[in-house]
Amino acid sequence: MNFEYSDKTQELIARLERFMDTHVYPVEKDYHQALKDADNPWTTPAIMEDLKTKARAEGLWNLFMPDEYGPWGAGLTNLEYAPLCEIMGRAGWAAEAFNCSAPDTGNMEVLAKYGSDAQKEQWLKPLLAGEIRSAFAMTEPAVASSDATNIETSIVRDGDDYVINGRKWYISGAMNERCKIMIVMGKTDPEAPRHLQQSQILVPMDAPGVQVIRPMSVLGYLDEPVGHAELVFENVRVPAGNLILGEGRGFEIAQGRLGPGRIHHCMRLVGCAQRALELACKRVDSRIAFGQPLSKNQSVREDIAQSFCDIEQARLLTLKAADKMDRYGNKVSRDLIAAIKIVAPTMAQQVIDRAIQIHGAGGLSDDFVLAEAFMYARTVRLADGPDQVHMMQLGRNLIKDANAG
Ligand SMILES: Cc1cc2nc3c(=O)[nH]c(=O)nc-3n(C[C@H](O)[C@H](O)[C@H](O)COP(=O)(O)OP(=O)(O)OC[C@H]3O[C@@H](n4cnc5c(N)ncnc54)[C@H](O)[C@@H]3O)c2cc1C
Repeated sequence: MNFEYSDKTQELIARLERFMDTHVYPVEKDYHQALKDADNPWTTPAIMEDLKTKARAEGLWNLFMPDEYGPWGAGLTNLEYAPLCEIMGRAGWAAEAFNCSAPDTGNMEVLAKYGSDAQKEQWLKPLLAGEIRSAFAMTEPAVASSDATNIETSIVRDGDDYVINGRKWYISGAMNERCKIMIVMGKTDPEAPRHLQQSQILVPMDAPGVQVIRPMSVLGYLDEPVGHAELVFENVRVPAGNLILGEGRGFEIAQGRLGPGRIHHCMRLVGCAQRALELACKRVDSRIAFGQPLSKNQSVREDIAQSFCDIEQARLLTLKAADKMDRYGNKVSRDLIAAIKIVAPTMAQQVIDRAIQIHGAGGLSDDFVLAEAFMYARTVRLADGPDQVHMMQLGRNLIKDANAG
């Protein structure tokens, strides 16, 4: 393994860092203030449109999209994308400026990989252009959704349509007024074998019967302007052509989607943690307690050193998983993807927690990015599969492999 960044990657890193320094960090406070001042918190502040125009003009656009699905992105490998995604992750809201934010990235990959020509034309094109946003609706309040075979939403064929009934929650992005389309997971055949009951279908947000019930909070945050919606689907009727890939293929699509989606979260979390460490290093040098800078204390230096070690370990594991995905595919790399999905969120949570402690009370405020970053790290211990489910599957695979002879 050679994790030396290629010339192409180094050039993109330099351009992206310059963009963050020139355009993103200077407007970070204004962006959050605009959200606080907005009449409708689910409207994306104009600052974002301005950043998107600039990023697109500079070719920093759709960097996540691999070449294998079409000529739509920057054609980067996972290994090449990893440091770029890390840089975007330093500011929790910034990835959208480059059209690289979840859940749009996963939805675009699904449409590019499995969508029909008509689905690509209607939904993938405006998503790639950053004109609309999207959501992925799987989790349901009534059932343990970490086991996706429990999902109860029904998708029933009726003539040339499908009719959808069910309730979902924590559907990221669905509160935003520019969210126009959802990929919904439900059951088309509850009698089929366990992993062939589910299908995925495209549902426009404005389809009659789609009801936005409320924004779900996350540790008290509503995460505006993206939000995590509770939704009800009441006799929602969409054309049969909205089904993706075919009946019973929902799990197959979910597996294809989750590999890249999971590692992207981990890349962003390494960026979050790195920024928290840098903020902590600055703070301890300038803050005086008991007659000396905080940085003179052994326990503070240990916290800083431990955070550095934790980040480096997670970054290397992320790069190793990305490299394996590039060389052998997502399926063969599932153990390393599970490993980094277990490691990165807890790592980031601990590093950010140390940085909060170092900042004192201010660390919990909105004056620093730490509270928001902590919320994100904590969230990813659940989103895209709770820690325990990844451990269960990784443990099962390792035991099976060891006994395979
Ligand atoms: C901020 C946020 C955003 C989200 N965005 C989306 C989204 O956009 N779309 C979407 O569909 N979902 C989304 N989710 C939901 C997320 O994917 C689910 O919360 C997750 O899959 C777990 O499902 P559940 O909440 O039903 O937990 P449950 O399935 O009820 O599980 C509860 C707990 O049980 C434990 N557990 C489960 N299985 C095992 C096991 N085998 N061994 C030991 N312990 C176990 C785990 O600790 C788990 O956390 C989001 C969640 C959050 C917090």
